[in-house]
Amino acid sequence: MNKKQKIQRKAQLILEYGSCCWWCGCNLPPEKLTLDHLKPSSRGGTNSLENLRLACSPCNSSRGNSLFPPKHRQILLSNLGNTVSQDQHASTFGI
Ligand SMILES: [Zn+2]
Repeated sequence: MNKKQKIQRKAQLILEYGSCCWWCGCNLPPEKLTLDHLKPSSRGGTNSLENLRLACSPCNSSRGNSLFPPKHRQILLSNLGNTVSQDQHASTFGI
């Protein structure tokens, strides 16, 4: 993503979810919010809006590449787990 795309994504997410952190819900001005990947890009996550949420810096950095805050972790991991197992299934059969 270039800078312009990031700004556009952020504006769309603010329209959708408000100017607040997806994880802890704190309200912040747009310039303080970061784009956070629900599924980290290092694990195949895309830059689509469905995979992006707004996060404050502490929440974003506390997640790193794979960790979710505890209260969201279970739901998201089960979603991601389904995706991963389907991918593994597909590659096993060469699809
Ligand atoms: Zn936060």
